[in-house]
Amino acid sequence: MPYIELNVLNNTLPEPAVGIDLGTTNSLAAVWREGRPIVLAPEGRSGLVPSVVYVPSEGTPVVGREARDQAVVDPRHTVFSIKRFMGRGLADVQSELAARPYRATESQRGLVQLELRGRKYTPQELSALILMKVRDVACAALGGQTVSRAVITVPAYFDDAQRQATRDAARLAGLDVLRIINEPTAASLAYGLDQRDKGHVAVFDLGGGTFDISVLAIEDGVFRVLSTNGDTHLGGDDFDERLAELARREIGSVAGARVLEEPGFQQAVRLAAEKCKIELSTQPESEMHLVVPELRLNWRRRVTREEFDALCADLIGRTLDCCRRALSDAKLKPAQIDEVVLVGGSTRVPAVRARVEAWFGRRPHTELNPDEVVALGAAVQAHILTGGKRDMLLMDVTPLSLGVETMGGAVDKVIQRNTTIPCSATAGYTTYADNQTGLDFNIVQGERELAKDCRSLGRFQLKGVPPMPAGLARIAVRFHIDADGVLMVTAKEESTGETAQIEVQPMHGLTDAEVEGMLKSGFAHARDDFHARRVADLKIEIGTMVRATEKNLHAAHGGLDRETFLDLEESLARAKAATQKDDLDALQKARDEFERATLPLAALLMNNVAQKALMGKKLGDV
Ligand code: AMP
Repeated sequence: MPYIELNVLNNTLPEPAVGIDLGTTNSLAAVWREGRPIVLAPEGRSGLVPSVVYVPSEGTPVVGREARDQAVVDPRHTVFSIKRFMGRGLADVQSELAARPYRATESQRGLVQLELRGRKYTPQELSALILMKVRDVACAALGGQTVSRAVITVPAYFDDAQRQATRDAARLAGLDVLRIINEPTAASLAYGLDQRDKGHVAVFDLGGGTFDISVLAIEDGVFRVLSTNGDTHLGGDDFDERLAELARREIGSVAGARVLEEPGFQQAVRLAAEKCKIELSTQPESEMHLVVPELRLNWRRRVTREEFDALCADLIGRTLDCCRRALSDAKLKPAQIDEVVLVGGSTRVPAVRARVEAWFGRRPHTELNPDEVVALGAAVQAHILTGGKRDMLLMDVTPLSLGVETMGGAVDKVIQRNTTIPCSATAGYTTYADNQTGLDFNIVQGERELAKDCRSLGRFQLKGVPPMPAGLARIAVRFHIDADGVLMVTAKEESTGETAQIEVQPMHGLTDAEVEGMLKSGFAHARDDFHARRVADLKIEIGTMVRATEKNLHAAHGGLDRETFLDLEESLARAKAATQKDDLDALQKARDEFERATLPLAALLMNNVAQKALMGKKLGDV
């Protein structure tokens, strides 16, 4: 039973697969431990990594809390909310860039690049830095264990290019992505909603700067995204701003308008507003307190929860408008929603909870920490994918239709939106001129009829079509979306058996060569660093495997046949020898071989455990 062997192997071998919530504001990792998911936080500290990168004048970029602290001092070299740029072209992010103090350019392949201290960074590189930090925190929380396999979450509305960009970021960070899953699916998994036979779930996600509502259908443990809606610029920051406006109004009328322009004041008022808002989540009233010594300002103002609720009523109303649209798209009424899940720090605001409950007519799930629920769900998925229990299929759907631009600029849809993935579909095309030997394909995503109104994911050319009269060639174009939602398009000339196959990389994704190039460049994760890190990780991993095996060698001697035991002993010796050198390939080989050789031991130990557990039990108990 290979299924059981895997479980035992997970106990003896260290490498856990983690779930990572790569968020706009914060990122977090979680892992499955003792039958449930737990967040990975070093002792006494939070595991939350602010998704912020600071590029200093010298040395490597800084990530997380330290980077966020630099925002006030050096905003021109501090990057926030990089997730908004993932997989987008320059034209997509113009409004986003308006508020940012750094220059952006576009690479030849349509990638946005941010310029910081004269060096260009792609969103993938910056996200990779965040992922590396999350991974370091996770390693520390796991007592130095290697972390190289992960499930990563993305918003349900992310298109292929954005998913591919996330995948590329993980590759740059040296992570092996087991699967990319939707954030609302992860949140539902964290609450165990996959255990329902049937039902509809609404996932209400209100963070610091974004709001998403997703409606999912569950059927036999399979999730399907029915609709998504939201507002990419609505969140807790807007609640803070309402309190800040109140403070500015009242202070301005006493201390004069000039005070309001001071940078020190602006930062202080934002912090005081957020602190007051957070207190109001647990207390009926709080105080906004502003002290700016340079301005000789010491101002206090009592705020009641009722007053705060009134200030933010329209903002919450906007979230409910989105819910209305999402339900209408899913052709459902609020009463048909069986479960409501709250995600994101701002769902701690009591007025948000109360109005969501009233609107849906049902109490939402709030038992888990709304900042952690997505990472926890990703850990559940990682556990399942690495052979854990709760064995069920997780499926999502394509958020938008995918097709090919035809002559005249129309779109021929090959895969319709809301098709459950993984999926494949093939469409047939032919040549339009005599002796035409090549065809250009433009792969597009979107619901509009004309290619120019859809998003181009990539273009490619099929060459090598044998010369023949127009309309005779038969070219099959196959679309395949894998379980991560990543698209591959292959074209094949079939009439004569001549074939040519082409892979399509999303326009805003990275080619393998580009990823290679970045690894080679002076980026923080340069090839040498990467190499050294993999070597170090493998040594730790092998070390743990060696210890676990040596501990059980006695049992192995008695329980395994001679040949298997000798094989184990030999690979143990080879693994130990490999750790004496820094040869990456040799380490990798030794690890794989050792892993294979420990499988029979794992099975033996599992049997022993099972026998002990059964001993002394009456037949009726078993
Ligand atoms: P997220 O993007 O999910 O990390 O959410 C961050 C937002 O949640 C920020 O606007 C925080 O101010 C807000 N937040 C965190 N804790 C609370 C709380 N106890 N009450 C209200 N808002 C909170």
